[in-house]
Amino acid sequence: MSKCLGCLKEITENNYCSACLRNLFDNNKNIKPILYFDKNEFLKIRTELADRISISGVQDKISLKIENNELIPTEKKGLYILKPVSVNPVPQFTEEIPANEHLTIQIAKQVFKMKTAENGLIHFSDGELAYITKRFDRVNGNKLRQEDFCQLLNETPENSGKKYKYDSSYEEVGKMIHFFLAASKIEVEKFYLQVLFNYVFGNGDAHLKNFSIIESSYGDYILSPAYDLINTSVHFPNETRMALDLFNNFETKSFKINGFYKRIDFVKFAEKLRVKWDRADRFINDFKMKKDMVIELINRSFLKDNAKVRYLGIFEDRLKAIRD
Ligand SMILES: [Zn+2]
Repeated sequence: MSKCLGCLKEITENNYCSACLRNLFDNNKNIKPILYFDKNEFLKIRTELADRISISGVQDKISLKIENNELIPTEKKGLYILKPVSVNPVPQFTEEIPANEHLTIQIAKQVFKMKTAENGLIHFSDGELAYITKRFDRVNGNKLRQEDFCQLLNETPENSGKKYKYDSSYEEVGKMIHFFLAASKIEVEKFYLQVLFNYVFGNGDAHLKNFSIIESSYGDYILSPAYDLINTSVHFPNETRMALDLFNNFETKSFKINGFYKRIDFVKFAEKLRVKWDRADRFINDFKMKKDMVIELINRSFLKDNAKVRYLGIFEDRLKAIRD
């Protein structure tokens, strides 16, 4: 028995269960589920493609496409993004970054039924694991129109300086959702859940580029699937809890006293976003109700034991915050 590198379930096959093969690799059962290159070759390829590659950001990631049943690096028409362990060490658990990102997005998908980018882990030729995610803006070779909230709020380095991705609030993003999206009542609920999820799972880097709107199959815009979900507090224990403030120029009394968000802040946040209170209340309670499912996935994950303990500790701490 082994664990599926997609959904983490026990499997008798190698690497991926049939459902994950279907979702991640378009049901291509002949795909070679291991990369033909190792980490050093990855770094070489990344440098070669660096100036030409079309995915935003220049972190330790490259684009992949499938050719002759093999995943190969590409500068154009990439279907996947590959993110290995970062070359630059972070304060804690650098080696655990891919497993953390994988676990966090699987919790979002499996436990909280959020729409997420398809994803999994994948082995380099020398066995090291990297995180792989399928681009959701490509359908049958066509590129769907997509805009992130930096673009929508016109936040650029020229306008707002180096920290432009952080130069707003989640309330402001909510306003834009109501402004731009036809089905904004539904979409703003999804956004509310994403923000709450990021808080509960220690993602302190959910900035404006990590939320997007995308063309739907009906031609209108909807909130994109969730992506770049990772419990950053595992790696950066001293960073602020959230990348953006919840509110524009507003703080609850509780926040003024405690210096961090609690249940009352998310109550107020629902109000500002015009999310119905019974819906928001259900989302908040769900995190407590589904604790056992979360713990089970943490235990099944590819994190090392000490990183699992840290991950769970952050989750429990945040659960307490949104309960009180
Ligand atoms: Zn699976």
